[in-house]
Amino acid sequence: MARIVVALGGNALGKTPVEQRRAVNHTAGPIVDLIEEGHEIILSHGNGTQVGMINLAFEDAVNIPEMPFPECGAMSQGYIGYHLQNAIKKELTLRGIDKSIATIITQVVVEENDPAFRNPTKPVGRFYTREEAKKLHQEKGYIMVEDSGRGYRRAVPSPEPVDIVEKDIIKTLVENSYLVIACGGGGIPVVREGVALKGVPAVIDKDLASEKLAELLDAEFLVILTAVEKVAINFGKENEKWLDEMDIVTTQKYISEGHFAPGSMLPKVKAAVKFASSKPGRKTLITSLEKAREGLAGRTGTLITFEHKLSPIMAK
Ligand code: ADP
Ligand code: MG
Repeated sequence: MARIVVALGGNALGKTPVEQRRAVNHTAGPIVDLIEEGHEIILSHGNGTQVGMINLAFEDAVNIPEMPFPECGAMSQGYIGYHLQNAIKKELTLRGIDKSIATIITQVVVEENDPAFRNPTKPVGRFYTREEAKKLHQEKGYIMVEDSGRGYRRAVPSPEPVDIVEKDIIKTLVENSYLVIACGGGGIPVVREGVALKGVPAVIDKDLASEKLAELLDAEFLVILTAVEKVAINFGKENEKWLDEMDIVTTQKYISEGHFAPGSMLPKVKAAVKFASSKPGRKTLITSLEKAREGLAGRTGTLITFEHKLSPIMAK
């Protein structure tokens, strides 16, 4: 039995509300499997599609006040948490497990002087023509970037998570056997302004925020569930090789060799290295939702540890 932060990827949630309701019913099974095995689970999740939809709806709406980006993130946490909570509660009840679930609207502290704020990279919202983009930049100060030949989009920064505002309440709930859903979409990014918190238009990577959550809760495991069963080197190439295990030195080497795509696999392996380096014994498993239980039993997935179990250094 272990304390485990489980980060759900976009494929666990689907795209539209109808799709999401169906997807979470499927997601609930593997999550409850882990609870049934006695693990203490804390759930986090992505929100790319959902916050995109909310943001677009407000951009396109007529006679509706402008909705700031942090507020859109808060809405997505509620909407996703609502679906996850109900689907998981139903599965728990069907299996006779008495456990209550809470979704915590989570704010994640970032630093105003994070270099990411000088270089916004994450495209959000709808596509604009070059002229519209210019106007938005002049009128609202938005940084507009050309996105994969499809037009211009607003870009927001992706700063590092430094603290989680609601960490104590999350910990208290976990220690009292509640299932907590937190840090949705990487959390609502906030900066400290004296005694107050101010939301900032930014996107914190959900894998890095989940890592921070796992550290603060002193979890033993960070489990990142995504669309692939394992991490590969030479991904998508002829000499593709799926990995069972990596130590942090090997992982760093693969990172510098460019094996992991930025914005998808790279933040996951970076989170894994950070977690393994934060305290002895901490491990990250990257696998698919369907394989979560098998992966935790050591039968599949990619396990990232501080030192390789079978490394010659250890054997000496
Ligand atoms: P999530 O919503 O779970 O965060 P992402 O799409 O952001 O999902 O990241 C997972 C995806 O990363 C995989 O589905 C895979 O297509 C891609 N990927 C990129 N590089 C690799 C790699 N080296 N090994 C495995 N998957 C990779
Ligand atoms: Mg992702």
